[in-house]
Amino acid sequence: MTTNPVVPEMPDTLALQAQDAAHYLHPFTDHTQLHSKGSRMIVRGDGIYLWDSEGKKILDGMSGLWCVNVGYGRSSIAQAVHKQMDVLPFYNSFFNTSNVPAVQLAAKLAELAPPGFQHVFYTGSGSEANDTNVRMVRRYWDLMGYPDRHVIISRRNAYHGSTMAGASLGGMSGMHEQGGLPIPGIVHIGQPHYFDDGVGMTPEDFGLRAAGWLEKKILEIGADKVGAFIGEPIQGAGGVVIPPDTYWPEIRRICRKYDVLLIADEVITGFGRLGRWFGSELFGIEPDLITFAKGVTSGYVPLGGVLVSDRVAKVVMDGGEFTHGFTYSGHPVACAAALENIRIIEEEKLVERVAEDTGPYLRQRFASLAAHPLVGVAETCGFVAGLNLVRGKAARLHDQLRFDPALGVGMVCRGHMFNNGMIMRAVGERMIVAPPLVMGRAQIDEMVALIRFCLDRTLEDVE
Ligand code: PLP
Repeated sequence: MTTNPVVPEMPDTLALQAQDAAHYLHPFTDHTQLHSKGSRMIVRGDGIYLWDSEGKKILDGMSGLWCVNVGYGRSSIAQAVHKQMDVLPFYNSFFNTSNVPAVQLAAKLAELAPPGFQHVFYTGSGSEANDTNVRMVRRYWDLMGYPDRHVIISRRNAYHGSTMAGASLGGMSGMHEQGGLPIPGIVHIGQPHYFDDGVGMTPEDFGLRAAGWLEKKILEIGADKVGAFIGEPIQGAGGVVIPPDTYWPEIRRICRKYDVLLIADEVITGFGRLGRWFGSELFGIEPDLITFAKGVTSGYVPLGGVLVSDRVAKVVMDGGEFTHGFTYSGHPVACAAALENIRIIEEEKLVERVAEDTGPYLRQRFASLAAHPLVGVAETCGFVAGLNLVRGKAARLHDQLRFDPALGVGMVCRGHMFNNGMIMRAVGERMIVAPPLVMGRAQIDEMVALIRFCLDRTLEDVE
């Protein structure tokens, strides 16, 4: 792999932190803490590693924010971006215009998408893509002659972005509390969380039961009012919630039965993360719309969009103008970055590697962490993994003793990771990783050793 050897000059950390605290309003950050601790300044990346302004090397177990699939420092993406900026840095796709990289990428995405997808609508982010879904679903049903079918069903603890529609589709109570969300026309059902909610059931039975909540909700609202159901194949920000195998086929069956459109939000699971180009293929989802972002450019520049199935595309296109779009829809520079990113994924066979080699190896090595006294469950799917910290282990999964959430044990563990050069995210007591797809076997060993070391430190703290 060709990476960029550029090593930047080290900035004055304290001065930067002071400016940061004075001027930079960060996303999802508690600013009362930022002022007392100061931000960590990340200055460089190469492969699966980052460096901060103090020169400390960090293993990035989260691929940035679930996005740097091809790893950091790819000179060829930088060159593709540079070339496109020289040739045409911007033009829009409104009013019958187009540009070369946007067209080439659309054709490439149609080739990579599951069968029955020939069209893409571009956005600048995953949130905008989910807003697009809301508008497109409503437009579709209007054109079909069912203007009442505007309700979209989502799930609690889902994450679908931060715009008004994205945050409403999401099921994060902390987000709904700020600003009176969800907006009208979006309702939620439970998530398929076996560890939390499957007490006394097999995973298979629980999967069917959780899918049944969708049918119940459709009947409660009236099928003639429901336009779509949206879900992440695996809930990422909610804590890597991997559904039982029975869940998605049953959701698909229910959507078909009531003619409800099915939206797979693949912002995290797209572009190889689960060992398939799209997670929908792994779970047999067969959606009508697919949201993507992040991995399409490996986060090098912002790009998102919706893959639109032939069923929906035909109606929307036959309907004339869809009065929707963004200045940066089909941005030539972002599309050029995506084309090079996808070329790398194909050339290095990253999807196949995750499916056949590194994914199974991560599963095997991660499973070994289940023997640790603090770990209740350790599970993976492709290149996402999660483990639950528990106070007491037990032979039966649901008999394990939980920590009082007020103790913040997950954050204690995350603190040890942070101090020991490892990025792992805490969602309550669930510790999660989603490493760059380029991570090899030796690096998986290194990551698992680091995690084990930090679990030992956490155990010392809670004992
Ligand atoms: N959908 C999912 C599943 C996500 O995980 C995210 C971001 O993490 C989004 C949508 C929103 O994407 P963005 O942050 O690009 O708006």
